[in-house]
Amino acid sequence: MTQVEPYESRHEPGAEELRVLYLRESQAKRRKEARPGLWIAVAIYVLFSASDLLLIPDVAAYTIAARFAVGLTALLTLEVQLRRGAGTGWLDVTCAAAIIFGYVGWLLPASMGADKESVAYYMVFGTIFMMSANLFFTFSFRTSIITSTIILCILYVVNYFVPATLTYKMVFGTFYVSCFTFTSYVNWKLNEERYNVFLNALEARIQHKEATERGKALLRLSRTDPLTGLENRRAIDEKLRDHWNDWQKLGAGFVAVLIDVDFFKKFNDCYGHQEGDRCLIQVGNALSDLIRQYDGSIGRYGGEEFIVLARLDKKGQVAELAEAICRAVESLAIAHELRRDGISIVTASVGAAFTRKQTGAKLEKIIHEADRALYLAKAGGRNCARLFDPTDPQSSDESENLAALLKIAIGQDLVSLVYQPIQDIGSGKVEAVEALMRLKMLDGTLVPPSIFIPVAERTGAILELGRWAIRTVCTELLADDHIRLVSVNVSPIQLKTPGFAASVATILGETGVTGNRLAFEITEGLEMEMHSDILRCISDLKLLGIKIWLDDFGTGFAGLSWLRLIDFDTVKIDRSFLHDCSTPNGKAMLQDIIALVRNRGHKILVEGVETDEQMALMREFGIDKIQGFRVGRPVPAEIFQAKRPLQKRPFTVLKSA
Ligand code: C2E
Ligand code: MG
Ligand code: MG
Repeated sequence: MTQVEPYESRHEPGAEELRVLYLRESQAKRRKEARPGLWIAVAIYVLFSASDLLLIPDVAAYTIAARFAVGLTALLTLEVQLRRGAGTGWLDVTCAAAIIFGYVGWLLPASMGADKESVAYYMVFGTIFMMSANLFFTFSFRTSIITSTIILCILYVVNYFVPATLTYKMVFGTFYVSCFTFTSYVNWKLNEERYNVFLNALEARIQHKEATERGKALLRLSRTDPLTGLENRRAIDEKLRDHWNDWQKLGAGFVAVLIDVDFFKKFNDCYGHQEGDRCLIQVGNALSDLIRQYDGSIGRYGGEEFIVLARLDKKGQVAELAEAICRAVESLAIAHELRRDGISIVTASVGAAFTRKQTGAKLEKIIHEADRALYLAKAGGRNCARLFDPTDPQSSDESENLAALLKIAIGQDLVSLVYQPIQDIGSGKVEAVEALMRLKMLDGTLVPPSIFIPVAERTGAILELGRWAIRTVCTELLADDHIRLVSVNVSPIQLKTPGFAASVATILGETGVTGNRLAFEITEGLEMEMHSDILRCISDLKLLGIKIWLDDFGTGFAGLSWLRLIDFDTVKIDRSFLHDCSTPNGKAMLQDIIALVRNRGHKILVEGVETDEQMALMREFGIDKIQGFRVGRPVPAEIFQAKRPLQKRPFTVLKSA
């Protein structure tokens, strides 16, 4: 997890440490300046040969030779030292020695000159050496003082021996001392000033570093998910944009994988939010370990959803990654006992989409496609991975068009209902019909419910379509008494929507139909979690007199637990069980299911009765009701509005709609 270090706990250097730092820094500076400093000093020193020629021409040859000898020796020594990496102290010694020897080397031959008066005045230049020791070179204060003291002493010795008047000696003696004191004082002040400059610069540097660190920490925080420590949506969106740009400019493809922890709300309800947080952290860590192998990035996209981006764009690689993600979460084996789909550990559904030539120019599209794939993974029973498939009508642009079509379907009269008879085996009469929705496109082509119902559920259009279906059933079929009962398919999404029962009550009130003439068929679809809202809604519907049937029993995992929770009037056994009856095993299976449902006291309806043999079998099994092409295909309402009693046979010849 990301942590920002508190500034109070940061290390502040003490006085001693500051000194050491200063020394280290000033040494580095001196080291850098030693070479140019000495070269300049030697150049000036050698240039003074001209004044030797003017003032002491008789010994100038010696002084000039001495100047060259000392200058070259000093430079050579320094260069060797620098090349060998000698300590800064030794460089200082060389420079200080160069000053002293430069002075002595010039002074000795100069003092031998014949014109003693000239020599006496020329000696005054000795103070220049004192000044360079104190002010020109940035020696340590101690080295400067030692060097300038040696020069002062030599000046005094020479002053003593120089053939001059006492006044001269006193004036120049005092001048030397004043010069020494003055330059030493300025040197000391300069050193102090340099230290202060160092302190200020250091403080500025510390402040700058702190500000930079604080900025970095804030930036890190603003891009990190506080719970899992993974990147948050903002950061991952930026990465997504980078990947997208690379794809557009360089053709570097990538995959976006959305991962959703299955039944996470239920997990939170069962184990509490703290455990929920722990679960997300574990999942996040496991995914981030896995993603490292793929050199990808992972982030928390919000709630229980994670996102992975990786530079993979081959179908096989992407499928392998998506599958590996599923297995990584599964292998954590975090207990999730109450999910009621036959699995008792935490799992994840995974939807992936990767860049393709056809993807189009919009960045959001790839996430949208991954989202579609995720939806299909959930629809496929969860704990599985799905890749976006542009040819699948559920995930293609087709479904986009369908979503748009569903919005205008009622207004444009594109949606209608057909009714399939349900026969009571005991009486042989059609006591009820099931309303089945039909949708046609603008050009009149029919769209099968298996295609448009999931899209309507995903987009929420099912809410309006569902209300429309109930109202239509009430007005076109239940307005008279020809059909006693109509069953309407109702999606769990409708049941979960607040106010659904009230809207049904309003329809019943407006159409004057009593609730007991309606049955709602519920299929354990996508929303397998039995929300308390659904249970509440079902009991409200029952209060209105509406019967609740369980549709397609046996096709999902939730059916059994639903049987326990809801008192269904009728259970419709999925047609696949009847169609499997040709084998002894299949027959035994159907018998077992029938026994199970019967034991719980529900009425039994078997779907998909197509043949006389199947019909006979149903009689043998003592089934209450049957539905299927053998009884009648779904037909428009007009067929049932005819003023004749309904018999069982006529429906077999009805044309299917
Ligand atoms: P379902 O509720 O199980 O509806 C029965 C489906 O089985 C219908 O398909 C029907 O035409 C078909 N069927 C009936 N008898 C036979 C038979 O003997 N043999 C075979 N092979 N099939 C038979 P359809 O109309 O395509 O509906 C498919 C599904 O769409 C429905 O399954 C239901 O889940 C859903 N659906 C249809 N209308 C609505 C609706 O108004 N609202 C909601 N939420 N779902 C609907
Ligand atoms: Mg049905
Ligand atoms: Mg059914």
